[in-house]
Amino acid sequence: SKPPPVKHYKLNGLTTSNDPKTNRETVLILTPMAKFYDQYWNNLLALTFPRDLIELGFIVPNSREGNIVLGKLQKAIDKVQSGPKAHRFAGVTVLRQDFDVPVSQNEKDRHALAAQKERRAAMAKARNSLVFTTLGPTIAWVMWLDADIVETPHTLIEDLAMHNKDIIVPNCYQRYTENGVQKIRPYDFNSWHESETALKMAEKLGPDDIIVEGYKEIATWRSLMAYELKDGGQIHAETKLDGVGGTVLLVKAEVHRDGAMFPPFAFYHLIETEGFAKMAKRLGYQPWGLPNYLVYHYNE
Ligand code: GDP
Ligand code: MN
Repeated sequence: SKPPPVKHYKLNGLTTSNDPKTNRETVLILTPMAKFYDQYWNNLLALTFPRDLIELGFIVPNSREGNIVLGKLQKAIDKVQSGPKAHRFAGVTVLRQDFDVPVSQNEKDRHALAAQKERRAAMAKARNSLVFTTLGPTIAWVMWLDADIVETPHTLIEDLAMHNKDIIVPNCYQRYTENGVQKIRPYDFNSWHESETALKMAEKLGPDDIIVEGYKEIATWRSLMAYELKDGGQIHAETKLDGVGGTVLLVKAEVHRDGAMFPPFAFYHLIETEGFAKMAKRLGYQPWGLPNYLVYHYNE
């Protein structure tokens, strides 16, 4: 019998441009999913980027809640993928995690400083498993999209890709109501510009110690993109970053292919998405942020 055919892929023919729609560049949307929110799914379905250029990848925790998520996700996927051919995504992969999550999933517990290293290490491993198993040879872009991102502009992919950056992150906020008035506040503090204070702080740390952002116990004096939102500012204004958050994050696939991943250990005293930004920088790539381009995180 004939040996199995050898597959050839021309990675040098893969483009990433400021117009991935016209240039038929495939986007892999990756979501670690501890909870299934209808608003996330509806927002995903509302994206205007052509679905035949989108592949989806999910990773679901290995827990009882994971079973529930899996059921809901499977049902949602089946509905789209068994519908009209023109509305189907190019491919869908669902992974079940092979390790357990150490920390409880409510907002207060998982944001406690003491829980950060273990929790973010677990998150980093989930992200790495997801990207290493789904990043096929035809993918041009990877868009990280957390399962609790419930509202974005529908032109999200086009809008971020337009900047044609190696890595680009919008500003992640949260809606809330105060005395009956609808307001917004910053949610993700992982997108920042490095400070001298944090660098000095890092010099005194042990090899396994990490600095995490957004905690008053750790005064880094880094400037956080979360606070750089300008009322009435240009939504496409760009700023160079040193750390990035992963709630919504567009990455050229070559950045991951070159080896940039989410360190589940202290890498320059950074972990997970902030460590990813550092690793990408060490590989010669530059992360950027859009302080006035808002996406919204679920409010528990
Ligand atoms: P936070 O918003 O920074 O507090 O982080 P989240 O807890 O929302 O986690 C970020 C993303 O990872 C979300 O999409 C979660 O649904 C998902 N997630 C959280 N923990 C796990 C986990 O242990 N395994 C997997 N597969 N996904 C997770
Ligand atoms: Mn979240």
